[in-house]
Amino acid sequence: MLEITEVGQNVHLLKVQVPINVESVNLYLIDGQVPTLIDAGTNTPNVIEAVNEGMKHMGMKRLEQVIITHWHVDHAGAAASFSKKGARILVGSRDYQEWASFVGGEGFSQFYRWATEEWKVPVKEISNMLKIYKEFHMLTALPDKVELIEPGQTVLAGDDSLLAISTPGHTAGHLSFYNEKDRILYSGDMLLPNEIPYPGIWQEGDRAVSGMSSYLKSLDVVEALEALTYLPAHGEPSDDPVARCQEVREQLYLQLDQYHSAETVYLSASNVGSQKIHPGVLFLKLHYAYGWEQLKKRVG
Ligand SMILES: [Zn+2]
Repeated sequence: MLEITEVGQNVHLLKVQVPINVESVNLYLIDGQVPTLIDAGTNTPNVIEAVNEGMKHMGMKRLEQVIITHWHVDHAGAAASFSKKGARILVGSRDYQEWASFVGGEGFSQFYRWATEEWKVPVKEISNMLKIYKEFHMLTALPDKVELIEPGQTVLAGDDSLLAISTPGHTAGHLSFYNEKDRILYSGDMLLPNEIPYPGIWQEGDRAVSGMSSYLKSLDVVEALEALTYLPAHGEPSDDPVARCQEVREQLYLQLDQYHSAETVYLSASNVGSQKIHPGVLFLKLHYAYGWEQLKKRVG
């Protein structure tokens, strides 16, 4: 069952079910001169059907472009399918690299190296995570052709121009898109009303970098926009992104205060209560533990 809600002039929110551990993902259809979809969902038939249904509901005859906030499978997965139907795919250049590396498998090899060498995760635990990687891998595909965008660039969506804002943290090249005229921010996973996105980890030079400190800077950037509304990729569209940025920042610093380092990142991540951790949960906990370790080094 598809939920379609009008959330602005010529803007509709589609809440789409995806076969991963999130309730649903929000796609935004924008009608006008340049009919646009913000984020693509997973590469599954129900997503394509939902977008078709949404377009019919809005009286949209064609989809000219899909704008991607970040490369994760629930946001970029179906882009290739929309591309085959003639839509242009706009994606940030930094996240396109990460996406290609995930699809090509290098992303997982990199993760394997960090996990074994730096964080001392037992190989058995990593094999369990490999199963999840394989499931996620089926939900995305690289389009034959994309248009790479850079932060600071403006794109026309519907009848409004959207400014691409660099908001790294959850991914290395996460972009948020700001409609300056109406002061509406398409925040992707950068700012969510009910949760805090986990900090990504990516390669910079020869080292693994946690997105935790970039995420904190991204909160400052988004707060300074003084947007009136944000349209997130999960949860409900909400007012007062400024207050939400402040709340998230406070929660993160509180979590940092409560964090205790164990001997290795793996032990820090796994020493919370239960003996057996689901590999998906361990994956998230490793990201947090590594984030806190790096942030502690920075703030001293
Ligand atoms: Zn997401």
